[in-house]
Amino acid sequence: RFITLEGGEGVGKSTNLAWVADHLMDRGLEVVRTREPGGTPRAEAIRQLLLDPADDEPLDVDAELLLVFAARAQHLARVVCPALARGAWVVCDRFTDATFAYQGGGRGIPARRIAELESFVQQGLQPDLTLLLDMPMEAAQRRLEGRLGRDGGARDRFERERGEFFQAVRRAYLARAAEDPHRIAVVDADRPLGQVQAELSRLLDNCLES
Ligand code: C5P
Repeated sequence: RFITLEGGEGVGKSTNLAWVADHLMDRGLEVVRTREPGGTPRAEAIRQLLLDPADDEPLDVDAELLLVFAARAQHLARVVCPALARGAWVVCDRFTDATFAYQGGGRGIPARRIAELESFVQQGLQPDLTLLLDMPMEAAQRRLEGRLGRDGGARDRFERERGEFFQAVRRAYLARAAEDPHRIAVVDADRPLGQVQAELSRLLDNCLES
């Protein structure tokens, strides 16, 4: 089974990803925990290219999209598909829904162009279950500030810009979930962790039984 975790910054994705992997391992399953962009040495090198803030040469949005899918092709071929083929459970931090959210919603690339690359690279492969951790952007922003600390005015301008970007990301995630409600479960992450994990547990157990 192929499980993906999605959500914007500050929603608790890392904590819950570790919890999901442990929850499945406790049930005696072989679990491969991985992430995108990345998950293999070459795909991680592509991730570095994607995240490099060097603004002497801005990254073209189409180049960004193609790099995300290049990393994905490598990750699928080397890690995800072999693991699924031997019956392991793959728990992946972000997958193609993140591309629709970040490169689609955030950067404005039309969804149909992303969908073309999706079918080219994935050949019909989709996660069995996607856990979309969702919370209002203001709440996520507060959690991030708690983690990173606040500093002066420059940071505020940065935050405002990022704010619009992340609103668009959240909208695109929710739109994607509305299109595919059987695969994508929207989990309200703006609750105490115990409640979030109780819901994740229920969703995973359904997936185990199906
Ligand atoms: O999941 P994680 O937070 O580690 O992702 C690192 C960064 O990569 C995030 O800040 C996210 O904005 C970005 N990203 C992206 N497009 C993707 C996946 C991640 O811009 N398809």
